[in-house]
Amino acid sequence: MNVDSAEIEKFGALAEDWWDDKGPMRTLHQINPVRLEFIRRGCDGRLDGRKVVDVGCGAGILSEAMARSGAHVLGVDLAESALAAARAHAQKTGPDLSGTLEYRAIAVEDLAQEAAGSFDVVTCMEMLEHVPDPQSVVRACAELLRPGGQAFFATINRNPKSYLLAILGAEYVLGLIPRGTHDYEKLIRPSELLDMARNAGLQLEELKGMHYDPIRGRARLVDDVSVNYLCRSRKAKDA
Ligand code: SAH
Repeated sequence: MNVDSAEIEKFGALAEDWWDDKGPMRTLHQINPVRLEFIRRGCDGRLDGRKVVDVGCGAGILSEAMARSGAHVLGVDLAESALAAARAHAQKTGPDLSGTLEYRAIAVEDLAQEAAGSFDVVTCMEMLEHVPDPQSVVRACAELLRPGGQAFFATINRNPKSYLLAILGAEYVLGLIPRGTHDYEKLIRPSELLDMARNAGLQLEELKGMHYDPIRGRARLVDDVSVNYLCRSRKAKDA
């Protein structure tokens, strides 16, 4: 199976604090509005009624926000305790999402066997850099899409600047995210992600950098993809 169990344990252990917007996952909360807007804009400004699968959803920061924007969302992850925190948060926060938000502990490759071609949108954010074989995840994401559907990926570039900012700065100097969150060797260059997407039959539509301001705790989209970046891609209509 394409999973690093140490990664799953690491994220699972954070479940209790995941929704604390001042806690160890605060940067995910802070970047979420920018990610949501990138996805919404890429979907012609509307998420209403779209069938979305959020791959590596964790405790559902993005999944729940997309469901609250009108999408029908399935969040998948292998960290059971993070999924439990996701379900609990959705339940205790109104309005009721029981008809439009669901979470499952299943590997994306297995879901692709079960539900190929059944989603309008796949999101896979801050997850690819935590798996042994990101190409396998990207391929499964493409399989889950209907022809013409869109996949959104977000991850971290691999170069000296991203090492300084995303690992040394964020984990050790500023303590923005827990130490050991990222492994430099597993970071992914945009050219590598685009190759994986192309190999999976996905065509790039948009590539943007995300600049994070640690003082204000805010993020914005930029053209510079040297550290954090996001992309939107599409499966061919005749695939
Ligand atoms: N996408 C979420 C969470 C990012 S944290 C967000 O951006 O808000 C990375 C997540 O990837 C964790 O929840 C971790 O459990 C999950 N993950 C790591 N390896 C995985 C795998 N092989 N299959 C599914 N999820 C995985």
